Amino acid sequence: MNYDIRSRMPRVLAVSILLAAFCRPASAAQPPAPQAVKSEQTTFIRCGTLIDEASDTPRQNALVQIVGGKFHAVTSFTPDFAKPSGAVFIDLSAETCLPGLIDTHTHVLLQGDQKPGQYDEQILKWSLPYRTILGTQAARRALDYGFTSIRDVETEGAYYADVSIRDAINQGVIPGPRMVVATRALDVTGAYAILGYDPALKLPHGVQVADGPDECRRAVREQIGNGADWIKVYADRKVSTAAGVVHSIPTFTPDELHAIVDETHRQHHKVAAHANGLEGVHNAVEAGVDTIEHGAYITDDDLKTMVAHGIWYVPTLYIFIYAEEIHQAAGFLGWEGGVEIHAETFRRALKAGVKIAFGTDVGGFEWTINPAKEFPLMVKYGMTPAQALHAATVSGAELIGMKSQIGSVEPGKLADLVAVSGNPLTDIHALEDVNFVMKEGVVYKHGSPN
Ligand SMILES: [Zn+2]
Repeated sequence: MNYDIRSRMPRVLAVSILLAAFCRPASAAQPPAPQAVKSEQTTFIRCGTLIDEASDTPRQNALVQIVGGKFHAVTSFTPDFAKPSGAVFIDLSAETCLPGLIDTHTHVLLQGDQKPGQYDEQILKWSLPYRTILGTQAARRALDYGFTSIRDVETEGAYYADVSIRDAINQGVIPGPRMVVATRALDVTGAYAILGYDPALKLPHGVQVADGPDECRRAVREQIGNGADWIKVYADRKVSTAAGVVHSIPTFTPDELHAIVDETHRQHHKVAAHANGLEGVHNAVEAGVDTIEHGAYITDDDLKTMVAHGIWYVPTLYIFIYAEEIHQAAGFLGWEGGVEIHAETFRRALKAGVKIAFGTDVGGFEWTINPAKEFPLMVKYGMTPAQALHAATVSGAELIGMKSQIGSVEPGKLADLVAVSGNPLTDIHALEDVNFVMKEGVVYKHGSPN
């Protein structure tokens, strides 16, 4: 997310950023080469506990059978179990197994953008090939944290590199989660970084700029033509808080937003709307977008509309806490009480019955931070641990349109399975230490916590 507070960054600071030496993220351990699982390969996994997300009750001492890349059967492990010759047996009897996790708001092409200078540096100094290399590293990290599927909601100036990363993963060239991608995102002239430099300079943007309904339609067509699964739109900017409400300046006019939604839906794709303040959220909801991203403040009336139209809420709680600390330290004003307002919005959305999916905005914070830090906040603000887990499994699968294929451990679904040492239903922090990751029948991690 290109956090609005940053757009108030003093010009002198922005200039000093250009002069600052940049530090690259620490390199990750090299992953093993991905291996395609043979269609007849059979794997048995013994799980101490299995939270399958298909039933309400965890199953003790379960035996999960996988054939090829799919779950084949879920039964009980018995002492007389004999592994058929040629099959693989994995003993996770000390672990809790659960479906692969789904993060519906990521940015693999961004390596943290909240600290002063980070964003401009990546856009202006890092080459697209270098950013893409880091994107492949981020994808590997996502998988390592236990996220077997992600919706990556824009490349922040890296054009269509997300399409290439998605395709490279699908073709087994690099390891990573299953990705649905939003490519470039849309915003209006003058609203989105890179901003604040000499107007005579021709600088790149973190988004595709479009003004007027016709340009908006054209941009949607272009992005879908170039491989976008979703369309991402920035519905507002410049947030400020007053009397328990977050206000914002809408970017697109209602006519423009309607054109984006209509063109996207006409082509059977969906729209994710970044919207934080009352005004931006209202315009996006009225335009009929499919998901509200961040949603720091949403009126009760708009929550009702979201329920009625099945519009998802992806709250991304952790990034706001992470960003607030940085911005307070830098002396930015205007967001006072914003985190509390966001928490209250989350509580009201939960109570109203809005569909909520797990999403983190990782990439806005560094990929070295585990996005699973979002789970304890969802619980702190009112979800049960089971609800928070559901938001990152079944709900995430539904949001990205893959509910029939992923999100639960059931025969016929893709074999995405992760394991943790503790019990996430009693201690949600257990999800921050995934020590086993299987995606579509292939083991990518076994034994070492994050
Ligand atoms: Zn974002």
